[in-house]
Amino acid sequence: MNLVLMGLPGAGKGTQAERIVENYHIPHISTGDMFRAAIKEGTELGLKAKSFMDKGELVPDEVTIGIVRERLGKSDCEKGFLLDGFPRTVAQAAALEDITAELNRQIDFVINIDVDKDILMERLTGRRICKACGSTYHLVFNPPAKEDTCDRCGGDLYQRADDNAETVQNRLDVNLKQTQPLLDFYEEKGYVRNINGQQDINKVFEDIDVLLGAVR
Ligand SMILES: [Zn+2]
Repeated sequence: MNLVLMGLPGAGKGTQAERIVENYHIPHISTGDMFRAAIKEGTELGLKAKSFMDKGELVPDEVTIGIVRERLGKSDCEKGFLLDGFPRTVAQAAALEDITAELNRQIDFVINIDVDKDILMERLTGRRICKACGSTYHLVFNPPAKEDTCDRCGGDLYQRADDNAETVQNRLDVNLKQTQPLLDFYEEKGYVRNINGQQDINKVFEDIDVLLGAVR
């Protein structure tokens, strides 16, 4: 089962990735993990990637694609894989088509966890942290008993700069702009399956499970 997982920040990709991997016994391949492994193993491409990262530069597509090719060729991917964070661009998606063709495979589904932007905003801006003890809260999912006050120590709660509305909005806009061409590319190929990410976490997985059960 060869899968690509997509979704904006806050859509709940991480949780669903964990469950897919657990239930379908395929490796979760995220870009970060893939780079770290290649660097640790000291492969030629890994070292190349590291030289760019050390300079604080973006790793060029050809290097990233090479690392993906090596990774998908490994034996643990024989039954399939769950790609997460790759591809990021249409060029990378086109390269992935070549890689899977070389391996006599095809992407089964691009699972897109779909959540309205307003709801993502609510999820992503709701975090509050205690100044005194560092406990974390969420205004919707895990609110403190008393407003702006830590349940544990009575300390004041604050919002990290990363979580403020303007920053989050900006992050979502950048992501949307980046992923739309990718979704269009995959729509055209008929791979995209939209999963309603606004439901309870368990129900979201149930929907994914129904979809994947048809392939298994
Ligand atoms: Zn506290």
